[in-house]
Amino acid sequence: MNEQQEQQAAWEHLEHLATQAERKAEEAFRSVERIAERNQWKVIDAFQRHKVSDFHFNGSTGYGYNDRGREVLDLVYADVLGAEAALVRPHFVSGTHTIGCALFGNLRPGDELLYITGRPYDTLHKVIGKPGDGTGSLQDFGIVYKEVPLLGGSRLDWEQIEQAITPATKMIGIQRSRGYDWRASFTVAEIGEMVLRVRAIQPDILIFVDNCYGEFTELIEPTQVGVDLMAGSLIKNPGGGLAETGGYIAGTAKTVEAAAYRLTAPGIGTEVGAMLGTLRLMYQGLFMSPHLVGQAVKGSILAAALFEELGFESKPRWDEPRTDLIQAVKFGQAEHLIAFVQGIQQAAAVDSHVVPEPWDMPGYENEVIMAAGTFIQGGSLELSADAPIREPYIAYMQGGLTYAHAKYGILKALNRLVHDKLIVIKPYIT
Ligand SMILES: *Cc1c(COP(=O)(O)O)cnc(C)c1O
Repeated sequence: MNEQQEQQAAWEHLEHLATQAERKAEEAFRSVERIAERNQWKVIDAFQRHKVSDFHFNGSTGYGYNDRGREVLDLVYADVLGAEAALVRPHFVSGTHTIGCALFGNLRPGDELLYITGRPYDTLHKVIGKPGDGTGSLQDFGIVYKEVPLLGGSRLDWEQIEQAITPATKMIGIQRSRGYDWRASFTVAEIGEMVLRVRAIQPDILIFVDNCYGEFTELIEPTQVGVDLMAGSLIKNPGGGLAETGGYIAGTAKTVEAAAYRLTAPGIGTEVGAMLGTLRLMYQGLFMSPHLVGQAVKGSILAAALFEELGFESKPRWDEPRTDLIQAVKFGQAEHLIAFVQGIQQAAAVDSHVVPEPWDMPGYENEVIMAAGTFIQGGSLELSADAPIREPYIAYMQGGLTYAHAKYGILKALNRLVHDKLIVIKPYIT
């Protein structure tokens, strides 16, 4: 065989492995599809209840007073998320900004924020900051921050949590998704149990959930199990690959209003904010989201099934229940990790010719490598992979607007690993 024939044979072999993995995962795929279906109907029902019409997509300029499209979008989101109120805006620049508004809006100097799911996502470390750091971080403003590490990296440490909750504890923080940590993500049912236990200790505590990457992976959301306040990014799940920027906050009317006062100004809150030309894509993206989340989750399941077959550890495992988009694969070596991320990039429709390299990204403590050949810059409902360059060299992959793209990415990444002789696949005997 010449080199080209060899490469062709290797690719066909990988495709064959993928077909086997798909057969194995058939039932898991069906259950993802059923969830997508229910969530799709839920979203349509909410659009219908609020009589969404063409004119809601028009948008506003200037102050944006009486922007009916903005008001109804908030109502539709609240309805879909089972919350009293929601605040959905293109004015949130990122997930971190959205979460920051939720926290700053609802915490005051002297209050204490206690994260019970361990260290939060990397970009929040600077939002929390340090006392006297001069950046206007939470702790710089005199808000006290505490966290209880997860036991064995994945279970809540209730003994420590019970000790840490005091009359000064104003808010409990919960991160649903694993973020850049090798831990389990927390299902909505598990979050519901946390709510009950925390309220048994102190009934009037505010409970906040960082819901990034979780939306529509399950049938219900954290606001439907007693959470007061949650936030997420529109360039992740609920933007449906179409929303060009923005974030959402949902929860009780009181906490959402407090967050709105922080986003705009006290006394102004939700009543201003020109939506410009963003509304149609935010509505249409929400409409698309349940389906696209299903496509992405199926991609994650395929990745887990394939990499497990090849001897790598994955989290979650292919047949474990899903509560977010993220698929973590442990590579153990930087070289493998980098080849994987570069392979994902090679499957992109946009920017497939660029080669991602590790770099110092603002807000992150280690160098990070990211594959992101996306239509929306940094959009991670689109197929993307990121990894901090630190031991034990774990890649976090997520997204895929279509299952076929996710599958292509996984195959290209595997092909890269084979081509670079980083993994050996048993020869395919016909
Ligand atoms: C993505 C993410 C964030 C931050 O969102 P950015 O848009 O990157 O600022 C926060 N928490 C979790 C769990 C995330 O996945």
